[in-house]
Amino acid sequence: MTRTALIVEDDDYLHGTLADALADAGLEARSVTTGAEALEVCGKESPDLVLLDLGLPDMDGIDVCRQLRQRSVVPIIMITGRRTDVDRIVGLEVGADDYIVKPLQRAELVARVRALLRRIHEYPRQESGRELHVPPLMIHKDRRTVLWGEESIDLTPKEFDLLCALASRPDEVIPAKQLLWEVWQYPEGIKTRTLDVHIGRLRGKLERDRKHPELILTVPGVGYKLEAPAA
Ligand code: CA
Repeated sequence: MTRTALIVEDDDYLHGTLADALADAGLEARSVTTGAEALEVCGKESPDLVLLDLGLPDMDGIDVCRQLRQRSVVPIIMITGRRTDVDRIVGLEVGADDYIVKPLQRAELVARVRALLRRIHEYPRQESGRELHVPPLMIHKDRRTVLWGEESIDLTPKEFDLLCALASRPDEVIPAKQLLWEVWQYPEGIKTRTLDVHIGRLRGKLERDRKHPELILTVPGVGYKLEAPAA
């Protein structure tokens, strides 16, 4: 089955370049020129990837991205003319998976599209079961609650997502870049303290005054692992 991509770009002469790059990455492209069309087409056709220009005639690309992200997990690569926009795209967590700065280099775009599709394939955004049980921790994903034995633990949404990512593979070292991707959708290479900060808070809430002071282990230079407490 051929995978499809949607190009959202009002600059007509870029359509050909983008479509060729996508073809190199194994995707069949279709183009629209406005944010409204993008939202409409994505609703009807569920493309496998969206290339989204930041500057569109009718809407800000950031808003298009946010709205798409509310409805779908489709991978989104933002196209921007200014490197200074990158902070807005990634830092504000609008939900883009990657970005590329104009002028577009065909080889770079092909590489980024391939890398993104590979990452999605390796770390699919899917739920595996509604409960995670790592005794004495019990996590109910749909209710978004965490119990330590009988005691309920209050977590922020991101702390909860991070705990789920760790608890879905107890005793396994999960690379930091994978956690940043799964929980925040940060592309590789972004320098951020977000993960360390959240791990610290999660530890504070889970480990304080408990019998298992080292529930979340740091594996220096690699990532983190949740050690299933001995029963
Ligand atoms: Ca534009």
